Amino acid sequence: MTRTVRELLATERPTWSFEFFPAKTAEGEAQLWTALRELERLRPSFVSVTYGAGGSTREGTLAVTERIATETTMTPLAHLTAVDHSIAELRHIVSRLAAAGVRNVLALRGDPPGADPQADWIAHPEGLQYASELVELIRSIGDFSVGVAAFPELHPRSPDPDSDVEQFVAKCRAGADFAITQMFFRAEDYLRLRDRVAAQGCEVPILAGVMPVTNVRQISRIVELSGQAFPDDLMERFTALDGDRPEDKAAVRDLGVEVATDLCGTLLDEGVPGIHFITMNRSTATREVFTNLVGRPGDEPVSP
Ligand code: FAD
Repeated sequence: MTRTVRELLATERPTWSFEFFPAKTAEGEAQLWTALRELERLRPSFVSVTYGAGGSTREGTLAVTERIATETTMTPLAHLTAVDHSIAELRHIVSRLAAAGVRNVLALRGDPPGADPQADWIAHPEGLQYASELVELIRSIGDFSVGVAAFPELHPRSPDPDSDVEQFVAKCRAGADFAITQMFFRAEDYLRLRDRVAAQGCEVPILAGVMPVTNVRQISRIVELSGQAFPDDLMERFTALDGDRPEDKAAVRDLGVEVATDLCGTLLDEGVPGIHFITMNRSTATREVFTNLVGRPGDEPVSP
């Protein structure tokens, strides 16, 4: 039986995890599985698969997560959102995951489907309004380890930091074992959130979501999808290197690996309970950052 993230966090810290998304094409599927197999060699604590906004990618999420559970040595974490699902459908999905041996679910409200992730959120008439309700639902179905999302720069819809932390802590108290953050680029944003949550008496481990930037176009996409800002000073460093020549692209990528390595190094020094890499279904940059980190003097070897 696969381990739960709850058990992993009790026995090995920091955890190392990798996030993937379900592919839409046969070519994308091949790339996904190449990345999964290459990163499997690093013996991650767990790997996660994001949940699509609708249609076939949702089936893809379930199929990939089930396949990770049954055909690889890795522990899967399935993302699940409340978007466009009735409670009955959510129950069915969670039961299907359980039947495949998946024991970890990241409970998310999700963003409104469609091109604009910042559009008004409208709950399914027989569905759920907030992620905290999904946490409760999943916990009521079986012995799952449930995670939730955290936002070092505030959730874009939260009116102020106090209410953001208050709702986050309520979501944890609904039954979450751990949280994973939205990607961020300044360690101080993570540390501020961690301290505010701790000040509320909440001890749920908050794993840091980190994405190595590999090209400059990706940055505007990050800002658009996450609703988070990208630091100006970093943007200047990346754009100063950008260009059409292969050596320019390589320089941007190298800077992305360096920036992610430095960020993770600071977080590890601060005792972060886990690093969760957003891989974009590619393995090379993540593997380089990982290797830079586990090779640091004084670090413990990575547990299997
Ligand atoms: P909630 O916790 O429900 O919060 C949403 C907003 O409502 C916040 O502003 C919160 O403060 C507020 N709120 C919460 N409860 C209450 C309450 N009781 N009363 C008033 N206000 C309240 N999206 C996908 O579609 N698929 C994915 O796979 C996916 N994976 C993600 C992974 C991570 C690590 C992260 C950080 C995000 C991910 N997302 C994903 C995006 C996420 O679905 C969106 O950011 C979404 O807008 C918020 O989801 P949530 O679970 O944080 O919502």
